[in-house]
Amino acid sequence: MDTLSTEQRSRLMSRIRGRDTGPELLIRSMVHKLGYRFRVHRRDLPGTPDLVFPARRSVLFVHGCFWHGHSCRCGRRPSSNVAFWDEKIRKNKERDARVRMQLRRAGWRVLAVWQCEIKDGSTLEKKLTGFLERQAAGGRPGRRCS
Ligand SMILES: [Zn+2]
Repeated sequence: MDTLSTEQRSRLMSRIRGRDTGPELLIRSMVHKLGYRFRVHRRDLPGTPDLVFPARRSVLFVHGCFWHGHSCRCGRRPSSNVAFWDEKIRKNKERDARVRMQLRRAGWRVLAVWQCEIKDGSTLEKKLTGFLERQAAGGRPGRRCS
């Protein structure tokens, strides 16, 4: 069910689309509190990642569930203009995949955090530290020295 009017939705979307959105600010302050140093919006990198950890060669994107086509409740598409939204979101997802590939080829590790994941702070914190610490340990996920 699409309960928002077209006007409401476009207002909402332009907010979500803009830089320095609520979810992104929340992530930044969480990462900061965890003690990691980062840069924001490095335009010289593919896709202009939201957070960049140069020393860890890692980047982080904060994805709005709607625009990036997440399979959660927030990612549901409007019931009107179905073809239009399908096409738009399909293109966004393609771009995301291309950007991830370009970054990985250039030696960056990439993590995407979904907007809906931010609600659960402790799980998100684990995800973030897991990602960033793995990198510090030499970029070998799941391997430990005995
Ligand atoms: Zn989501």
